[in-house]
Amino acid sequence: MDKTVRLFDADAYLAEFEATVVDTLCDGEKYVAVLDRTAFFPDEGGQSPDTGTLGGARVLYVYEKDGVIYHETDAPLSKGDAVHGTIDFDGRYRKMQSHTGEHVLCGTAHRLFGAENVGFHLSEEYVRVDLDVYLDRERVALLEREANDAVRGNHAVTAWYPDKEELPSLDYRSKDGIEGDVRLVKIEGVDLCACCAPHVSTTAEIGMIKVVDSIKYKGGTRLEIVCGPDAVRLFEEEHETLSSLAASFSVKREDLAAAVSRLREELSSATYRLRAAEKKLMERELEDTAPTDGAVCFFFEDADADAVRQLLNGAAKKCAVAAGFIGRDGDYFFTVRSDRIPLRDFSKKINSSLSCRGGGSDAMISGKCSARRFEIEEFFNKI
Ligand SMILES: [Zn+2]
Repeated sequence: MDKTVRLFDADAYLAEFEATVVDTLCDGEKYVAVLDRTAFFPDEGGQSPDTGTLGGARVLYVYEKDGVIYHETDAPLSKGDAVHGTIDFDGRYRKMQSHTGEHVLCGTAHRLFGAENVGFHLSEEYVRVDLDVYLDRERVALLEREANDAVRGNHAVTAWYPDKEELPSLDYRSKDGIEGDVRLVKIEGVDLCACCAPHVSTTAEIGMIKVVDSIKYKGGTRLEIVCGPDAVRLFEEEHETLSSLAASFSVKREDLAAAVSRLREELSSATYRLRAAEKKLMERELEDTAPTDGAVCFFFEDADADAVRQLLNGAAKKCAVAAGFIGRDGDYFFTVRSDRIPLRDFSKKINSSLSCRGGGSDAMISGKCSARRFEIEEFFNKI
């Protein structure tokens, strides 16, 4: 089959086009059409494919094989049909911005740190770039600043297929897995890279580049970035979050970090005081517990589970069974301790009599209990 003419190579901004269906095939349940020419960019080079319409049919997925571009549609097309194609251009343009942003970022990383791009994924949800050099926070910040300088520089972006004589004389970045004719994308003064995808025509159209996440990955760096309107939307959302947080602390946004740090200190000192008071309370409870051959039950609306366990350890030396319940009627977290009765068998009895779910060892069981306090007391009084 003849290779499909790639209309997006010459004009990335082409949103509508006329074409002829040159072949159709049945791929299981799917309708697949091949056109003589197309503006639909396929799933290629790490970028997700365009969506849109062909005649009255929705284009669901587009892929390429041996230079032929296949369109999966939700309705059949017939060989010989003249069709009008429409690309969902908002989504496509955002990908053009993000993709060109990725070139600027990687070209800048190459210039600053000698980093090569060893992975790339661009979809509606995110843009991910893997570099083979590890960049710490400081270097990522420098990279982001210099890449945004290049965005504001409004450099021209052009693409062409160099011939066999020209190609060897050019020093360009290349991605793994590129097959067939090499198409070069040049960003004047910033980058030269082999790439098959549509790009914007000047760097200013990228708007801005924001690195959202940066992690160590296979000895290099994995970056997640947002560009253009996605970066603006992220800024709006995060600004809104910071503003409402600052309002809830009654401080200015720029004083938020200090306010959170103060709160953490207050919380840690309050927790320390609470633990100390709880420890004293448990010691008093233990002192007040009279020795018995039966069971003793403790109820707390709210208490630290570790502190309750300490109390039960002490109480188990005075009684046959010591039980602690934290919570309210119908919703308790319980722990039972005993050095005299094997609790694993006992837990079956508790589970069925008191609507409990739990288990553990012969010395200690714990779980959830949906009984009421008087039912629990009645049960343990019988021991
Ligand atoms: Zn590209």
